[in-house]
Amino acid sequence: MTLPPGSTIGILGGGQLGRMMALAAARLGYQCHIFDPHEAPCAAEVSGHFTQAEFDDEQALLRFGAECDVVTYEFENLPVEPLRVLGGKLRPGLKSLAIAQDRGDEKAFLERAGARVTPWRCVGSIEDVHAAVTELGLPIVLKTRRYGYDGKGQAWIRTAKDVEAAWNAIGHEPAVAEAGVDFEAEFSVVIARSAGGKTRAFPLTRNEHGEGILRHSAVPAGSAVEKLGALAERSASAIADVLDHVGVLTVEFFATPDGPLVNEIAPRVHNSGHWTIEGARTSQFEQHLRAILDLPLGDPSLVTNGATMKNLIGSDVERWADYVAEPGAHVHLYNKGEARAGRKMGHVTRLT
Ligand code: AMP
Repeated sequence: MTLPPGSTIGILGGGQLGRMMALAAARLGYQCHIFDPHEAPCAAEVSGHFTQAEFDDEQALLRFGAECDVVTYEFENLPVEPLRVLGGKLRPGLKSLAIAQDRGDEKAFLERAGARVTPWRCVGSIEDVHAAVTELGLPIVLKTRRYGYDGKGQAWIRTAKDVEAAWNAIGHEPAVAEAGVDFEAEFSVVIARSAGGKTRAFPLTRNEHGEGILRHSAVPAGSAVEKLGALAERSASAIADVLDHVGVLTVEFFATPDGPLVNEIAPRVHNSGHWTIEGARTSQFEQHLRAILDLPLGDPSLVTNGATMKNLIGSDVERWADYVAEPGAHVHLYNKGEARAGRKMGHVTRLT
């Protein structure tokens, strides 16, 4: 059922993705209610309503759900069970969330959904890691199954001597061991799926990471990526269908000479889609809202020839005045306070 303007959208998580979603909602005449355990999350300052509570506080979630017409999330490390009190108001549903928050379950799911992934194993002990090195070869990367993001909870094993240090580096947590991929490029498919099962994908986006953090995105993505586009989009759409996903879903890929390999999925809007705010006819934030509000999906195509997005990470943000002075640069600052190393503080989009 279509939710008309004036309705209230609840957002679990108060980071920059929630902030940009709330800005898109305001433009369409919707109100937002942020739910986050922190005192002054950056999404709350641009939203009309804010509940400060822990994500597993069922009483607070019940009250929050009663005050919202639909509830969505802007990050995936949320405890699944307490969210059941939100019932059918939660979009995307719990399946997408549960799958995306455990790298082992996610990889097994992706294979079942017909996507190709790099060879991998679940590991729970140093013996398992040694066995994975024997079976998968080197290099491999260990990633904790849960709570990893932006390169956190990851350690590379390049020679047999690195095994112990890598296992210590991830804190002996249950993990996946993945064969290192010698990729030509990294790219993502940001795709929206409506409740009726219609999908629309944004143009393929090429991504560059440094120390596990997205630094730069570009559209068009270049020939090495474009030639894999049809396969990758089909794969993203199949994943969204199997999850019965409603909203935006992001699938990150490695482009290899043998085709696209899925690295990971995020059941939400994504940093690699930030360029769509100015660069696409409908932004990823508005598209997500359209899907969860049962509005028709918008046109995801480029408004110009292309776009680039540079993340402002940690102290990069100190150069904000240079970007603001640059003609044509679209500057987004999240007002997150302290510019700690590795923290995403803003981004700059340039249309080409
Ligand atoms: P992730 O948190 O899984 O997205 O990993 C962060 C980044 O580390 C990726 O975007 C890649 O640049 C790199 N990376 C992760 N897994 C692999 C892999 N199996 N092979 C090569 N590079 C990887």
